[in-house]
Amino acid sequence: MVETNLPAPAGIEGPGFFATALDNVVGMARKNSLWPLPFATSCCGIEFMATMASHYDLARFGSERPSFSPRQADLLMVMGTIAKKMGPVLRQTYEQMAEPRWVLSVGACASSGGIFDTYSVLQGIDRVIPVDVYVPGCPPRPEQIIEGLLKIQQLAESESTRRRDSEEYKALLESYKIS
Ligand code: SF4
Repeated sequence: MVETNLPAPAGIEGPGFFATALDNVVGMARKNSLWPLPFATSCCGIEFMATMASHYDLARFGSERPSFSPRQADLLMVMGTIAKKMGPVLRQTYEQMAEPRWVLSVGACASSGGIFDTYSVLQGIDRVIPVDVYVPGCPPRPEQIIEGLLKIQQLAESESTRRRDSEEYKALLESYKIS
């Protein structure tokens, strides 16, 4: 069930009025309406399916709409072994997402190559795109994936609306040669 009684952001209230910062309102909206794009290539994707299903129900966090279009997603969830040949595809998917966008690396394979320390496997998706939160495990349980989503929510809620225009953020993208 979708959470409908969200607490108001920090602010000042009195009879008939409530005042808060724009960042707080935008952060609250972003936090509770993340649209995930599942980039699942192998077994960790099955854990994602369990996370979306009724028992764990990611919809409770406002993320019931998986987007298979990068242009209509703001959370890239990468799950599974990413072969080096898939690197450019993953990168292009990331580049097609509008700002603000976040990346959740789910499982050992996506985060570090996992057990596949071999010539054909990318040894972590942060070699090609920036990652916001890593979820450990092989595979991680749905509870861990949900914890990762909660961490992304914390980032989304607390992020300044100006962060994406900051020199620091531009430098991060430049370090990946992403314009
Ligand atoms: S981390 Fe483990 S469960 Fe996940 S994709 Fe890799 S091998 Fe499969």
